[in-house]
Amino acid sequence: MNRIGIDLGGTKIEGILTDENYQSITRKRIPTNQDNGYDSILESIKDLVDELIHESNEKVSIGICTPGTLSLDSGLIKNSNTQCLIGKDIQNDLKNMLNREISIENDANCFALAEAKLGAGKNSNFVFGVIMGTGVGGGIIIDGKIYHGRTNIAGEWGHHCLHNEGNSCYCGNHGCVETYISGPALENYWRQLSGLTQSLPEIIQNHDNPNFDNWKKSFLDNFALSLSNVIDILDPDMIILGGGLSNIDFLYDEGKSAIHEKVFSDTINTPIVKNTLGDSAGVFGACLLESY
Ligand SMILES: [Zn+2]
Repeated sequence: MNRIGIDLGGTKIEGILTDENYQSITRKRIPTNQDNGYDSILESIKDLVDELIHESNEKVSIGICTPGTLSLDSGLIKNSNTQCLIGKDIQNDLKNMLNREISIENDANCFALAEAKLGAGKNSNFVFGVIMGTGVGGGIIIDGKIYHGRTNIAGEWGHHCLHNEGNSCYCGNHGCVETYISGPALENYWRQLSGLTQSLPEIIQNHDNPNFDNWKKSFLDNFALSLSNVIDILDPDMIILGGGLSNIDFLYDEGKSAIHEKVFSDTINTPIVKNTLGDSAGVFGACLLESY
């Protein structure tokens, strides 16, 4: 059986058709027209799926990677940065539109699944996959399967509390990880310290600025505290970093050492590694959804 994986992103929808060994047969990418609303996004996904099915000479499975999570109670999408998806029953709507069974998962779980089975974690049984970008999310993969948890929030380390009276978060709490080590949070903090409005890649290059050391220390402290908490609770075989911030080299040496220092163990060697699939984790994760 061939596999179709669709990655629904804020700016583009990407689709891949693979064979049963996840080797790419064809791949297509179209823009996401958020302005035209939910129905137009569904239509675009349908057109993409139809095109990919047309190119397959075997039966296909279909998996979809979405931004945001599905509510356990209602099955509706919540917390999505693609606003027009919030509150929609995308799983059933797509199923009806395509007249086929589909599997659907949020992007952090798809990322973790793809990296655990086809990427940096290929030989590990227990992987914690981290997305650090505009938001901070994560997914837990045990023996090749996504671990959802009773409430479907397992792996959501971006909203555990680092500082009780800290930054306020859109989720209603204070001091969430995401308010310290997401891209926008780090850019904000740099603006407070230096008065400069710069993007993260620009800030990283700005190490001669007198504020840089303070900025980096705070970043590493929060990065280490949050991921050492994860290790204390889960103790995974490996942590794989994804999202825009995974391109920051110092997270893999200084960041890793800082995490290890805070873990509750006298010996620790948990690898903190970069993803190997890059932007393709979403489509491959979606392809993998039907395989269990
Ligand atoms: Zn929060």
